[in-house]
Amino acid sequence: MVDISTQLIHHPYLPPTDFDAPQPGVFKASTVIFPNVAAMRSTEWKDKSGYTYGLHGTPTTFTLEERLCTLEGGKQCVLVPSGLAAVANVSLALLKTGDEVLIPDNVYGPNLALCEGELKAWGISHQRYDPMNPADLAARISDKTKLVWLEAAGSCTLEFPDLPAFVAICRARGVTTALDNTWGAGLAFNPFALPGMEGGVDISAHALTKYPSGGGDVLMGSVITRDNALHLRIKNTHMRLGFGVAGNDAEAVLRSLPSIGLRYKASDDNARQIAAWACTQPEFAQVLHPSLPTSPGHAHWKALCDPKGTGELGKGAGLVSVMMAPQFDQAKVDAFCDALQLFKLGYSWGGPMSLVVPYNLAQMRSQWPSYIRRGTLVRFSAGLEDAGDLIADLRQATEAALR
Ligand SMILES: *Cc1c(COP(=O)(O)O)cnc(C)c1O
Repeated sequence: MVDISTQLIHHPYLPPTDFDAPQPGVFKASTVIFPNVAAMRSTEWKDKSGYTYGLHGTPTTFTLEERLCTLEGGKQCVLVPSGLAAVANVSLALLKTGDEVLIPDNVYGPNLALCEGELKAWGISHQRYDPMNPADLAARISDKTKLVWLEAAGSCTLEFPDLPAFVAICRARGVTTALDNTWGAGLAFNPFALPGMEGGVDISAHALTKYPSGGGDVLMGSVITRDNALHLRIKNTHMRLGFGVAGNDAEAVLRSLPSIGLRYKASDDNARQIAAWACTQPEFAQVLHPSLPTSPGHAHWKALCDPKGTGELGKGAGLVSVMMAPQFDQAKVDAFCDALQLFKLGYSWGGPMSLVVPYNLAQMRSQWPSYIRRGTLVRFSAGLEDAGDLIADLRQATEAALR
């Protein structure tokens, strides 16, 4: 008689397989069991033809990858433990000693930190280009340039670039393009089908931490492509770095994904109402939201995200930034942020709760952008609360701290 511990581990019972429910089941594994040695030797880890090891995928992560490809218009996907890991996976896969990467001056801060703190030590240089001037990017591309990062919109200043123009320049020079698509989330525009050209960017990196998770409780990222050779370069680096995601986290994102369109639209609606209100308040010298005709790059946003000009909601994330009027020093701006009740002080966005962060733009940019007023930037991330309540909160904080 085999011991009970052995019986419990090698139990013969299998549940019937004809189970179906709105949500897929959760599979969790480091070890994957093969039926025989021949299968162990022949199963390929690089595609979805089988399972080899938890790091290379389970039914749960394969399902999430396929749904994210649908969301963003791509063909292949790798999942990574955070949005920043998605950025790192792309740069480490494509750049070698002697290469150069170009990043926009409004780049997501930790991407710049990766260039300065890691890539540089391996002999990979970087330059920052003007995110609103395609000619500036064109002038910086050289034989060393192997990757150009793009963002639309910029994550704090929310200026919207002429994305097709930037991609066309890179393509003409044979340089791979990677878009940090966290803001667009696959909903505001299709990064792989840009107007006026065949296809679009080569790579879309996405912080699933934001809208796909939608809960403020999961860290995850994805790297999506439409070219298998490019995907395999990224997948090989992914394997060598040991980037894996947990089954329960993948399940949390799968659970949120069906409502991403509704949540994205609701956040956009709240952000536009906040932006419209902020435009009427003298304390805010400049309001930044791509749907505002006065916001930098509005025409580019409109061409890409709202070509019919209907003002349809769901074509912009829940971010809105304001440049505080110059008479408010840092202490005043901090007091305003502290006085907010519903907007919590915290990084990230895309969850149910509205958030606020004051930023010192001078420390983030190589030069102050000509189209941004001088002052302290405050970024609001609109969550899913009632817009009237959010505006009332902004009003009471304005009155308490700034008047
Ligand atoms: C949040 C964010 C990231 C990084 O995502 P994490 O999961 O927090 O690492 C990358 N890019 C942009 C634009 C982001 O907003």
